[in-house]
Amino acid sequence: MNKGKKLYEGKAKILYEGPEKGTAIQHFKDDATAFNNLKKSIVEGKGVLNNRISEHIFNNLNQIGIKTHLMKRLNMREQLVRLVEIIPVEFIVRNIATGSLTKRLGIADGTVLSKPLLEYSYKNDELGDPLVAKEHIYEFNWASVMELKLINDYSLRINDFIQGMFRGVGIKLIDFKLEFGRANIDGKKEILLADEISPDTCRLWDLVSEKKLDKDRFRKDLGNVIQGYQEVARRLGIMHEEGNISEVKFGKPKAVNIKE
Ligand code: 5GP
Repeated sequence: MNKGKKLYEGKAKILYEGPEKGTAIQHFKDDATAFNNLKKSIVEGKGVLNNRISEHIFNNLNQIGIKTHLMKRLNMREQLVRLVEIIPVEFIVRNIATGSLTKRLGIADGTVLSKPLLEYSYKNDELGDPLVAKEHIYEFNWASVMELKLINDYSLRINDFIQGMFRGVGIKLIDFKLEFGRANIDGKKEILLADEISPDTCRLWDLVSEKKLDKDRFRKDLGNVIQGYQEVARRLGIMHEEGNISEVKFGKPKAVNIKE
């Protein structure tokens, strides 16, 4: 499928114009960044895995009535998506306290929360995605009361569903980040789940050993980043063989001398 012009390049993905009006092509890169771009690296094969894992989760969410931007996966690194007007808020759902929550409030790492905690941060790299209250969201017209009510409901339903999905394959869903956008579908304004859900945007721990299988492997220099992502894909039944994961690269053909 032919890509149109580049619309946006983020830290881990590129968005191109899609083949039809209202569509886009979401391309998953291997670039890994953390701490607001202070730490950067290439994790070979990460984009391919995130593409597949996110497709799997979005397709499952679609089946339980969550509307998403995903139309179809196109190839190893690309998805055809509906173009949305992104809401500039990151919706963070937490089941267990860790990461910025524990740093901010001095809560013990690993504290099990009595119910899922939903936090909002303003999507702005220059400001370091600061935490905001729902009043900021209304005041600055990032989302209406109705939209936020729907997104809150979606976020908790998504948490319930994917928490169960991961638990079924021996993984604890600690926390994750969601993004939503607005699209016009058949003349009706809809709120769609956008971006991705993958080990880049979730914290995923092995149920028994509590081994980290997500981007914290990169953030905290734990090593074997790609192996964590592969483990998630393998347990979800997406990839059965390692050979499926990376693109096959052929070198330049060389002349062969055949000796008589
Ligand atoms: P924390 O606020 O503890 O750093 O992150 C909470 C959860 O949201 C983690 O699962 C983390 O991966 C995800 N998250 C929060 N902000 C971002 C972001 O800007 N990019 C990505 N990829 N994930 C984020």
